[in-house]
Amino acid sequence: MKVLVYGAGQLARMMYLAGTPLGIDVQAVDVNSQAVVNPISKEPLNTTLEQAILAAESLTAEFEHVPEALLQQAHDSGKLRPGMQAILTGADRVREKALLEKLHIANSAHRIVTDIQQLDDVLSAIGADLIIKASRDGYDGYGQWRLRSQDELAELKLQLADLDLQAVPLVAEKRVEFEREVSLIGVRDTSGNVKFYPLAENLHHQGQLHVSVAPATDVTEALQRQAEDIFTSLANELDYVGVLAVEMFQVGSSLLVNEIAPRVHNSGHWTMQGSVTCQFENHLRAVTGLPLGDTRAIGPSAMINIIGCTSFSRQLLSIPGCHLHWYGKSVRKKRKMGHINVVGQTHKELGEALQKLAEFLPLEHFPKLISEAKRLQAIVLDN
Ligand code: ATP
Ligand code: MG
Repeated sequence: MKVLVYGAGQLARMMYLAGTPLGIDVQAVDVNSQAVVNPISKEPLNTTLEQAILAAESLTAEFEHVPEALLQQAHDSGKLRPGMQAILTGADRVREKALLEKLHIANSAHRIVTDIQQLDDVLSAIGADLIIKASRDGYDGYGQWRLRSQDELAELKLQLADLDLQAVPLVAEKRVEFEREVSLIGVRDTSGNVKFYPLAENLHHQGQLHVSVAPATDVTEALQRQAEDIFTSLANELDYVGVLAVEMFQVGSSLLVNEIAPRVHNSGHWTMQGSVTCQFENHLRAVTGLPLGDTRAIGPSAMINIIGCTSFSRQLLSIPGCHLHWYGKSVRKKRKMGHINVVGQTHKELGEALQKLAEFLPLEHFPKLISEAKRLQAIVLDN
């Protein structure tokens, strides 16, 4: 059985690795060259895109910014899972906000900006503490601007002056004063059955995910259920098939959706060692019509992104419960090179393992590690 993935990055690579024991052959499409490649070696396979589409059981995407002509061709095959509407919604913050509003799902106050002069009215309506986001093609905090006060508005307008806001509008969002960021990774099959992983707590630095801990600490049943209800509402509306990630801000006991990702997600990488069935396998199971796998956590886990750095001691593998996932990419500043998963018996023990891990890593690239290790070590009772 073959599955064709649009995008040939680390997510396609990890799908390939998860598909192998199931006898699922994952092939990847390099969306720039349209070549069909092996997701590990990136070597072109002896097939055209059209042939690969015909041969595949289903088509899926590892990122939402698939060029529209390619997405249309995938849609026309009748095999694209999740469907085109879901992928387009994840790729466009204007559509995404419209969906959240339609479903009455709480999210940050916002305005769509199609002309720079509208910013004055936006400030009057929702204040001057804003995060302004390009509606398309942003990731890892790219395509975002921060406004702190009215005084900075003139300068910001200059910075944005060259953008074609008719073509790509901005979404101006009120900055949310959240207690923390969490995400729910879930999976929905072709019959509409859903399964959820426990909420993960996500630590960002400069708009980029650095550490996820799952199950998140201090999660009440009501909070988990709130997240699951949001997921179900979105997934049902989109007639979604596959893994879907919902990024949220927690404010008190309420969740506000930040954004959705119609795919496997960085904040779900902990599932590779930390749950019974990882997100990559569950995505493949869903899109090929197989039964969904058990999403229970094995123990408290942490996922630590390795960003913009290649030199660290591989002796970190001596830490019990510690695993390395290396993507084999050339290094660039802010580029995700790999990640480390650590599984413990308790959150406290996980914290101790992270403290040890810090000894093997250049800490300037891991700004969240020590504080998270300390926080977890202070947890006496697991919830
Ligand atoms: P990624 O692809 O890594 O998820 P992204 O570029 O798509 O990131 P967002 O998830 O929208 O962008 O924003 C990145 C981070 O910026 C968020 O995880 C959060 O830390 C912060 N952020 C975004 N919007 C807001 C907001 N309205 N209020 C407060 N913080 C925000
Ligand atoms: Mg995000």
